[in-house]
Amino acid sequence: MHLWFQGPCKPDFQLIENDFSKFILAQIRTFGDFPEKTYHFLFQITAYKSYHGVEHENSTVCMIGPSYQVFKESYEDFLGLSSHEFYHSWNIKKIRPVEMMPYDFTKENYYHTGYVAEGVTTYMGDMMLYRSGVFSQQQFFTCIQTWLNKHFHNYGRFNMPVADASFDLWVDGYEPGVPNRKTSIYNEGALIALLTDILIIQHSNGKQTLHDAMSYLYDVFAKKKKGYSQDDYLKVISRFAGDDTRPFFEKYVWGTTDFEPILKNAFEKMGLVLIQSPSPFLSERKFGFRLQEGSAKVSQIAPDSPVAKTGLKCGDTIIAVNNMSINANLNQWLDYFADEPLSILTQLADNRIRSFHLQSIDREFFPLYSVKAASQPTPEQLMYFESWTKNPLILP
Ligand SMILES: [Zn+2]
Repeated sequence: MHLWFQGPCKPDFQLIENDFSKFILAQIRTFGDFPEKTYHFLFQITAYKSYHGVEHENSTVCMIGPSYQVFKESYEDFLGLSSHEFYHSWNIKKIRPVEMMPYDFTKENYYHTGYVAEGVTTYMGDMMLYRSGVFSQQQFFTCIQTWLNKHFHNYGRFNMPVADASFDLWVDGYEPGVPNRKTSIYNEGALIALLTDILIIQHSNGKQTLHDAMSYLYDVFAKKKKGYSQDDYLKVISRFAGDDTRPFFEKYVWGTTDFEPILKNAFEKMGLVLIQSPSPFLSERKFGFRLQEGSAKVSQIAPDSPVAKTGLKCGDTIIAVNNMSINANLNQWLDYFADEPLSILTQLADNRIRSFHLQSIDREFFPLYSVKAASQPTPEQLMYFESWTKNPLILP
């Protein structure tokens, strides 16, 4: 293993060596062997904010910044990105969709199983950090919380099944695209992987996990240079999770059934509680719109929310509330005017100015989701949690 750094950075090599050794060994142990003789992490550290990785057979190029955060507050992202890319050494570089056997560089390679290639990798990248002792229980719960909030805050989940999002990726890539239209193979895929993992654990009474299914794909497909189809993946999962996984795929992978009841149930089996709490921001909670971080530019609007009816659009900037000029302090002014009628002034993307009145309704938007350990888990829940994460559940 080699780690290369380019760009302005001050890595803590001792800490990195310690953490990388743990998750690298854990991943290799899971699959039984490593498909390459050597491996190179090629880090491009940028002076500006960045976060991107591309996997190759015996290397990965990871771009992350800004320099002053990478080994401090963004260190978890640095680890998460590295563990994710390393997991790709098996899942996508060897365990490949049949549509990419071989990869045709002359045209689009449409496929429906991006939730395996990127979803399982996103999930396992973080799970491996926890299983190997790099992440704490709370850090792992924060990963789950990120997937949950990205999922529940994306209204595209009612419109596009994750299998279609995989196909669609060739059309407009990683662009946000039309509001509330699409889903992410990374994020939806991570939750599908989590649910699949828990289905396998329950079916095998804690004896097997999604790792066993991925190892099976590596041994039976990848090592024989055979690609897997969507149907093959369903069969492999059914082999480990019982014969009845087709309805699960129909609802959550090929359909747009609400994830909340099944997630609640799955977490409960593992001794966790799914918590929903109100957003601290009035713009989100009462009016149903979100802002780009550190600005007053609208980034998202909940359908059926009070602002959706005013004609406010993503990309518009709120410039005044009740004649008070707004910078990055919109929510402070919304709090200040909480019991008064609101008159809003916005600057549109094409520089025109618009004004409208805003009223809240008796409904809340963009609630926050998280998980915590149940206060009195049963012995069965404790056993399942340990089968799932290879860690004992620490109680509050
Ligand atoms: Zn990836």
